[in-house]
Amino acid sequence: MRYDVVIIGVGVAGLYAAINIPKEKRVLLINKASPWDCNTYYAQGGITTAYDKDDIALHVKDTLGAGAGICSKEAVEVMSRESLGIIDDLIVRGFEFDKADDGTLLYTKEAAHSRDRILHAGGDATGRYLHYFLLQQNPHPMLSDAKVFDILIDKGRCCGVVVRHEHQVKVIEASHVIIASGGVGSLYEFHTNARSISGDIHGICVEKGIALENMEMMQFHPTVYVGNQSVQKQLLTEALRGEGAHIVDENGYRFAFEYDENGELAPRDIVSRAIYDYMQRTGKQAYLSFENFDEIYFTKRFPNICTALRLLGFKVPKEKVPISPAFHYAIGGIKTTLDGEVEGIRGLYAIGEAASTGVHGANRLASNSLLEGLVFSRRATLKMLQNFESHCETLPKIDDYILAEPEDKAKKDKLRSIMWKNVSIARTTKGLYEAKSAIEQMLNDNVGRFLKLRLLTAQAIVEAALQRETSIGVHYIKEENEC
Ligand SMILES: Cc1cc2nc3c(=O)[nH]c(=O)nc-3n(C[C@H](O)[C@H](O)[C@H](O)COP(=O)(O)OP(=O)(O)OC[C@H]3O[C@@H](n4cnc5c(N)ncnc54)[C@H](O)[C@@H]3O)c2cc1C
Repeated sequence: MRYDVVIIGVGVAGLYAAINIPKEKRVLLINKASPWDCNTYYAQGGITTAYDKDDIALHVKDTLGAGAGICSKEAVEVMSRESLGIIDDLIVRGFEFDKADDGTLLYTKEAAHSRDRILHAGGDATGRYLHYFLLQQNPHPMLSDAKVFDILIDKGRCCGVVVRHEHQVKVIEASHVIIASGGVGSLYEFHTNARSISGDIHGICVEKGIALENMEMMQFHPTVYVGNQSVQKQLLTEALRGEGAHIVDENGYRFAFEYDENGELAPRDIVSRAIYDYMQRTGKQAYLSFENFDEIYFTKRFPNICTALRLLGFKVPKEKVPISPAFHYAIGGIKTTLDGEVEGIRGLYAIGEAASTGVHGANRLASNSLLEGLVFSRRATLKMLQNFESHCETLPKIDDYILAEPEDKAKKDKLRSIMWKNVSIARTTKGLYEAKSAIEQMLNDNVGRFLKLRLLTAQAIVEAALQRETSIGVHYIKEENEC
């Protein structure tokens, strides 16, 4: 199997990269489970865009503000400037954002945005609509249920990938590999991510000495219903709060204002910590209340959330829903240039949630991630087409892998629990060292290749968290005796 380009991942980043590569190139898209098992499919709220040219400066300011001073200003400016062209491109290709009755685009607002600038589709099903649309546009073949567990690199050149497909190990040669494998959700006990998202490719990068950046910056979503049985928990989008939902305790008290003057519309990290702290301090449960919503508007504007919550037995919008923060988004990732290049390895690119372009800094502004995936995947494909490489002359030796060991499932669950307990919303130095030592112990045991990759990624998160000794953005270090 020999291709010009292999794209690992078929979320927004992988698919938009694919549709920007001409049909004549031999391109293969790979995904781990089914094409729908990705975070893009689950995105609810929408896609940010600068509202118009005059809004670019303010969008940049809001993004930098959320990022707490460690964003790459250059990357943020690129993303905001190019947002208008990207949205036009989607519309010209035929994508339909939600519109008002007079045909004008409907924009909404989410936490820490200074104005309405978020476009959505299908009400609260932006990701599903966008994903379906991009799948239809993709002209290249796709290999599903194929897990990449190694990337072949020879003398500083990327030469392909190794996958498990149909119970066999297969080598797929490629002159270029684009990593679009998403974040790390399954490393945490409570998360909102698709099942297939487990940071495998970040683990390969650790092994190969490829730089990861800002791995301590893991974002937790404040409003998640975690009472359902499945590993993926039910997200209650930020747009609900943007349009009037309140965070309350069992007595209806809006406690978020004790933590920030913007209450539930403060940046996500502040709201997540407020809920976490209030529940621990008072022993009370936090809820999301929709009582401000007109029932017909709520049903129409948030049809999917409404159905999901009613199926779970909640009489929304009248009844409030118990919430907790949960892991949501990997801000950090594989360090790239502004054109998605992985420095030091020719032919290797990283885009979307897997990458760290520097746009999110220490905290991601809501709905900037679909936009980041679109903007930087297009930049990466343009760069790749300019610097098109010929096939590798030789391939490195392929190792003999043991992919799984009998104890792996139990260790995987242990890892999830450690990451949630010690490496989540509020961290302590002691807790981080405990996590580090537990992870090292598991790495020293006999573990299969897939678990090893997860452990390496988790280790990178913990080590980055230990290195950053002061709190910033989503990385919050609390004193040992603080509750
Ligand atoms: C519930 C939810 C709601 C969200 N809402 C919004 C929102 O409203 N607005 C917004 O901007 N962002 C939102 N986000 C974040 C956003 O959806 C993601 O950051 C974005 O979709 C990531 O896109 P991606 O293409 O990088 O990765 P994904 O869409 O996650 O795709 C990753 C792909 O990589 C593949 N893959 C992974 N590992 C391997 C492997 N080892 N081998 C082969 N394939 C592999 C997977 O199979 C998948 O196809 C939300 C996220 C979630 C979970």
